[in-house]
Amino acid sequence: MNDSKICISCNKPVEENADSYEVFEKMHWLCFHLEFEHSGDPDRACDDVSCPWFHIQILKDKLSTLGYDPQGIIHEAIEKLCNEALQHNK
Ligand SMILES: [Zn+2]
Ligand SMILES: [Zn+2]
Repeated sequence: MNDSKICISCNKPVEENADSYEVFEKMHWLCFHLEFEHSGDPDRACDDVSCPWFHIQILKDKLSTLGYDPQGIIHEAIEKLCNEALQHNK
């Protein structure tokens, strides 16, 4: 267990990247990225190649190029989740 690993930026437990806790200066990877690598508005893609927003943007652009609607795919996934939740509650 990694019960003692708490992010010094957001004070929430570090679980997914607990092995890299020291590498990311005792932070979540995302908190580390926002603190040291991300420039500008946190809600917008930055120039850093590891930026999650940048990755999402690339994937959306590629899907669009392939003729898919990224927003439609997300709506589909949400509907599926809702349906599954309904099934579980029966
Ligand atoms: Zn954090
Ligand atoms: Zn970024």
